[in-house]
Amino acid sequence: MELQRVLKEAVGINDEFHFFNLIDTRAKAQGKGRLSEVVISVKDCICVKGLESTAGSAILKGYKPVFDATAVGKVRSEGALIIGKTSQDEFGFGSFNVNVGIGFQVPLNPYDRERACGGSSGGAAGFTAKAPFRHIALAESTGGSIVCPASFCGVIGLCPTYGRVSRYGLMDYANSLDKIGVMAKTMEDIALAMKIISGCDPKDPTSLDAPVPDYAALLKKPITGMKLGIISYGLGKGVDPEVSTAVKNTIKRLEDSGCTLVEIELPLVEKYALPCYYILAMAEASTNLAKYCGMRYGAQENIEGNFNEYFSKVRGNYLGEEAKRRIMLGTFARMAGFRDAYYLKAAKVRAKIIEEYKKAFEKADVLVSPAMPFVAPKFSEIKRLTPMQNYLADILTVGPNLAGLPHISVPVGKNKGGMPIGMMVIGNHLEEGNVMQLASCVVEK
Ligand code: GLN
Repeated sequence: MELQRVLKEAVGINDEFHFFNLIDTRAKAQGKGRLSEVVISVKDCICVKGLESTAGSAILKGYKPVFDATAVGKVRSEGALIIGKTSQDEFGFGSFNVNVGIGFQVPLNPYDRERACGGSSGGAAGFTAKAPFRHIALAESTGGSIVCPASFCGVIGLCPTYGRVSRYGLMDYANSLDKIGVMAKTMEDIALAMKIISGCDPKDPTSLDAPVPDYAALLKKPITGMKLGIISYGLGKGVDPEVSTAVKNTIKRLEDSGCTLVEIELPLVEKYALPCYYILAMAEASTNLAKYCGMRYGAQENIEGNFNEYFSKVRGNYLGEEAKRRIMLGTFARMAGFRDAYYLKAAKVRAKIIEEYKKAFEKADVLVSPAMPFVAPKFSEIKRLTPMQNYLADILTVGPNLAGLPHISVPVGKNKGGMPIGMMVIGNHLEEGNVMQLASCVVEK
């Protein structure tokens, strides 16, 4: 591959669509390996040695990590070309990649520039769709940030089991929910990248010590006899009929290929996953962001006044509106006097939600639903949404994220306006293989 041409093309695409916060025009492929000269983009919240890494926030402008995240180190050692840092909602706070930090640009959907890429890994998904050469994106999901943009941009996005991929070098949004995953145009690239980045890491005590299967071999395994659980609320009211139809048609095709179908009710997930997720995610985010106070981490200002006045000034000047909202709500949910009513209750509900999924996996091998209830919305529509309506967009994705279950979005067609639709496949813990096996059958059709 001609590196200069690849970089030039990427810069051109970025000028039009703003997929990158930073392109490394000095990038070089290093040595030989299974990713020899494959172009890899990295979501901005994942540290790359020597490349400005800001998690999309002005408060981290100028920060150049002195180390690689484990996932980055692993792809690098396989010969990958790390091209740059992709755009995201500030610290991952959003579903449309419009909540970018102060001074950052909003990426535009590759199918329609008046629409969002989805979030929070919007740049990763948009560039995966648009790159005219082989490319794999390293992305991150806390509550749906891989499958949402993958579905809006018509690419494949896989979020693994919590702990499958080391979080070392990932800037925290909510530690108990954050996962590094991948996006690509083909299932072969997804399988290869997951094989490379998965595995136990002594630098991340939450990473799982479990064998990593040969995912590429599983892609070829027939799906005959696989039990598909259809999540009933996923095709119910509130889901765009064109999205439902595309997903139902795909399910029908899978049945024709030998899968058996079983209807799955997830009443707790349907009712409580969203509030439970937002309480826990914001509570964790508010503590994680506490370190960006202008003393040891993050932007600095002239030191004036007492500590409270100083850090209020720094955070007031450098954090965006959504980050401030989440710090306030998250702090409230953790405060003495409210903690039992909100944070602890949400933690208990989360345990119940995990139990509900575990019961579902006694009846089905994988669960399916649309990834998002609608296609990529227009920026003009997003502007009219209240914060609550923004959060509601994640109704289908927060469940598997709360339970730490592997899930993927695969493209299953387009609506009349030509916008892509994604189907989500969820697997039991550590069963990324099942998820990929089924997804590969969908992609081939
Ligand atoms: N939209 C969700 C949120 O705003 C998920 C974001 C993510 O997965 N990083 O929290």
